[in-house]
Amino acid sequence: EEDAALLAAGDGGSEREPADAPLPVLAVVGRPNVGKSTLVNRILGRREAVVQDVPGVTRDRVSYPAEWAGRRFTLVDTGGWEHDAAGLHARVADQAEVAIELADAVMFIVDATVGPTSTDEQVVRLLRKSGKPVVLVANKVDSPMQEADASALWSLGLGQPWPVSALHGRGSGDLLDAAMAILPEVSSVAAELPEGGPRRVALVGRPNVGKSSLLNALARQDRVVVHDVAGTTRDPVDELVVLGNRPWWFVDTAGIRRRVHQTKGADFYASLRTQAALEKAEVAVALVDASVPLTEQDIRVIQQVVDAGRALVIAYNKWDLMDEDKRFLLERAIDQDLVQLPWAPRVNLSAKTRWHVDKLVKALDTALEGWDTRIPTGRLNAFLGELTAANPHPVRGGKQPRILFATQADNRPPRFVIFATGFIEHGYRRFIERKLRENFGFEGTPIEISVRVRE
Ligand code: GDP
Ligand code: GDP
Repeated sequence: EEDAALLAAGDGGSEREPADAPLPVLAVVGRPNVGKSTLVNRILGRREAVVQDVPGVTRDRVSYPAEWAGRRFTLVDTGGWEHDAAGLHARVADQAEVAIELADAVMFIVDATVGPTSTDEQVVRLLRKSGKPVVLVANKVDSPMQEADASALWSLGLGQPWPVSALHGRGSGDLLDAAMAILPEVSSVAAELPEGGPRRVALVGRPNVGKSSLLNALARQDRVVVHDVAGTTRDPVDELVVLGNRPWWFVDTAGIRRRVHQTKGADFYASLRTQAALEKAEVAVALVDASVPLTEQDIRVIQQVVDAGRALVIAYNKWDLMDEDKRFLLERAIDQDLVQLPWAPRVNLSAKTRWHVDKLVKALDTALEGWDTRIPTGRLNAFLGELTAANPHPVRGGKQPRILFATQADNRPPRFVIFATGFIEHGYRRFIERKLRENFGFEGTPIEISVRVRE
């Protein structure tokens, strides 16, 4: 019964693909528990042990190099993409939509023992709208007696249902042949993968500022060009959102999606969650509520981003609640509030009306560019030499520390080490930081400056 040849389908992970031709992408899509991961494992020739019955089980990757009948392709597993039980229906459709957009062809799996559900039908509509080629998989057809179940799936209008047992391998060879027949030779979606995969964004802010509203607004932005996400590591609590024609990971969104009950200690857990998200992120959108004054907790969250050394965008939400004259006063209040953070790009928006939500992309790009920046040592020292000659460190107790040399030891975030003949006081460090920003940008990123004293 078992389709032994299928087990020979290489996982090919050790071989590097030639950089010129991106492999076509085949996405496996379907409701939870229909057997997506089981089928992916079978195609990859892996053993059952990887699949678990636990929903939301951690899978470390979304896509894998695969091969069938001498053709190589990228297989995208959406098995770990859905999580919360609440709103599951909508989530499945959202994630399926992203997966479909990301694919050249789709394997749509339905559990033949259950038959088509309304969620399945919703996915069918997405598939139709996308115009992507589809093979319909009638899974869990473990024996010939169950083939009638598979025939019932003709009603979905996606053509022939392929009866398969992902668990035992039955029929999977024919299915893969059918998939290869619809998969284009050349990928039209796998292109310019950003180095290291999509950028990772944390959406942070105290409760009720509108994080989940913003996440919903973003997840519904137009999704146009799509990319191969091969080689990205991910967690099932991260969501792929396409903004400005590029995919972004919004990390650790489970806590945003899940309505956490307000109890004692909720503050503490909120800040732990923020910390966890920041650790995984490259850039944070710190969301605040523009309709009320900035609170201590808002400032703590923003400080957490800075302390974590992440790029920062500050978004003032609920701007729709502001009337014209209030807006003017608010702008001034904001400048006051953020006097310590003049470098963070700011976006005024409304998650509710989606006003200016699209402006986040540019702000994110700006912040990340600053965060990535490296200044060559020569340029840095030429700049510092002029700066300190024109504005020497004040004399303290008859001594005047001199700056000998500086280097940017790191980026992401930029870290500078200054070698000096004596202690450089705080005010002078801030002055140097301000001048570095004026000259080199660093918009949206914290900067660290440390001083080493050399006699
Ligand atoms: P996913 O959530 O769509 O990724 O589904 P999984 O691959 O995790 O499978 C869900 C459950 O269905 C697991 O208990 C699998 O062992 C089971 N399953 C998957 N494929 C088959 C099949 O072909 N036949 C039977 N009987 N069970 C299957
Ligand atoms: P979270 O706790 O940070 O995830 O905040 P939510 O997204 O749950 O929003 C908290 C409340 O603010 C809800 O009642 C939202 O409807 C409301 N809200 C969120 N964004 C906006 C907005 O842009 N304008 C207005 N007027 N209300 C908003």
